[in-house]
Amino acid sequence: MDAIIQDEILGTVAADRAHVWHHMTQHKAFEVQDPTLIVEGKGMKVWNAAGKEHLDAVSGGVWTVNVGYGRESIADAVRDQLVKINFFANSMGSVPGAKFAQKLITKMPGMSRVFYSSSGSEANEKVFKMVRQISHQHHGGRKSKILYRERDYHGTTITALSAGGQNERSAHYGPFTPGFVPVPHCLEYRSQFESAECYGERAADAIEAVILREGPDTVGALCLETLTAGGGVIVPPTGYWERVQDICSRYDVLLHLDEVVCGLGRLGTWFGYQQFDIKPDFVTMAKGVASGYAAISCTVTTEAIFDMFKDETLDPLGYFRDISTYGGCTAGPAAALENMRIIEAEKLLENTFMMGRRLMTNLQVLQDKHAVVGDVRGRGLFAGVELVSDRHTKLPADEAHVQAVVSHCLAQGVIIGMTNRALTGFNNTLCLAPALIAKTDDIDQITDAIDRALTHVFH
Ligand code: PLP
Repeated sequence: MDAIIQDEILGTVAADRAHVWHHMTQHKAFEVQDPTLIVEGKGMKVWNAAGKEHLDAVSGGVWTVNVGYGRESIADAVRDQLVKINFFANSMGSVPGAKFAQKLITKMPGMSRVFYSSSGSEANEKVFKMVRQISHQHHGGRKSKILYRERDYHGTTITALSAGGQNERSAHYGPFTPGFVPVPHCLEYRSQFESAECYGERAADAIEAVILREGPDTVGALCLETLTAGGGVIVPPTGYWERVQDICSRYDVLLHLDEVVCGLGRLGTWFGYQQFDIKPDFVTMAKGVASGYAAISCTVTTEAIFDMFKDETLDPLGYFRDISTYGGCTAGPAAALENMRIIEAEKLLENTFMMGRRLMTNLQVLQDKHAVVGDVRGRGLFAGVELVSDRHTKLPADEAHVQAVVSHCLAQGVIIGMTNRALTGFNNTLCLAPALIAKTDDIDQITDAIDRALTHVFH
């Protein structure tokens, strides 16, 4: 590397160390690590400040860069839009905002309205507010409780954390917003029910039991991740969704699916829920919407829900009194439109389906080979490898060992992740979410690195 460029990069690394408070980072440990600034990316690869190349198996760390790095056409679309008109808020719309909403809805039969904001947490908060407002205006304020599932995550704000089933995220941040009630998780590998028969139905029945306990006339909505991502990569078992849909209809409980991770192709269909027979009332999405090229999230709902906010005669404050400043920035929908075009033009849904199958096959080979692999699970290009110190008792592997596997992969030039750490009791799952452009060689390189890391750490 050119000496001047290297000096400049080292200066930037120093500035980063001195002034940036990083997300999810214990800075005491971080200060003694090698420079980790990522300075460039192309396709599935990224380069750090030291010039080292890595294959990224987690799409930017938090499963976001679905179409890969260095997409000039997205950068061009954003640039062209920003010089034309970058922003306008409130009722004044924008061309890309209208076009993206129209296009998105064509992929979501039954849905018709898109509310823009800029993060997954916000998109979920909008649903919580809509549900509370519906409760006030249509149920005398009674149907205000929102159910969420253990191990799910819906964002980082205090109310999103109130709906969060991961204690590592919420510890020390209370008191929380009242009215959020947990239901059991549905991970069959760590069954909470005595019999394994019809597991999906049983896990759904546990939701019904909570509704009955709380009183159906007090429960407004059920908020679930379609596939629990950071909470351990949990694919709901067969029979679950059909029963959940039935329960929601029976007790007039609105179904909110958080597709912040699963949306825009991650599971091999435009939306994860489309692989099951369900009709949600709300779907939220963020990460893959613009693949990290601009900040955008969407709260999508039906015309029936939208109509509930239109009757002025009922209440002059009856409209949805909510705004997100950057929901009015045109960079988001401009990037999202081009992102969606790429997914279609390059047939990335089909690729995700095929590469997902390869990934799962490779992971099953690792499970046969390494006793420490207790379970492998996933769908499309989102997969988890749960590590246990004893297959019989399923005692979780030590977090330090799981972290050592991640570090060994990094040393081999492959970035993988692990599910949330500390306090949760489910910090033992390796997490993989490569970009939807992954090829066979990339998948094999990822699983080969994990294979070597497991041998290194556990043999
Ligand atoms: N919902 C899910 C399922 C997530 O995984 C996340 C973030 O990882 C969020 C919501 C919050 O999104 P954001 O970080 O954009 O606020």
